[in-house]
Amino acid sequence: MTKISTLYEPDQDLLNSLTCKVVEWCITRFCLQEKVERVTIDISGLKIEDWWGDCIEDDENEACYIININPRQSLRDFVATIVHEMVHVKQWATGQCQGEGEREANRLQYELTDIMWKENVV
Ligand SMILES: [Zn+2]
Repeated sequence: MTKISTLYEPDQDLLNSLTCKVVEWCITRFCLQEKVERVTIDISGLKIEDWWGDCIEDDENEACYIININPRQSLRDFVATIVHEMVHVKQWATGQCQGEGEREANRLQYELTDIMWKENVV
């Protein structure tokens, strides 16, 4: 009988590069290159307990954003959460919001994630 076990140790390098690719794709998709100076993403999960992600504007510079993403979720949900927060970045950066911001973010998160999958971005 073969014993099979895994050790849960997320490959941080892989997750980092995946995260950067997703954010880069969103920046291009939402045409934010000129509007957003910097996006810092914390995927350590240290600042997050029982929610999936959040996003705040940097106090010192409005064009800079800080996003926290919980790494303890499936890869698809992880990507979708980044997309969700990037929709909020777009809403802030452009001052445009189609209807209620949360609804737009929820609507787009899996839609865009699936497009990324089809385009082999992730
Ligand atoms: Zn939201």
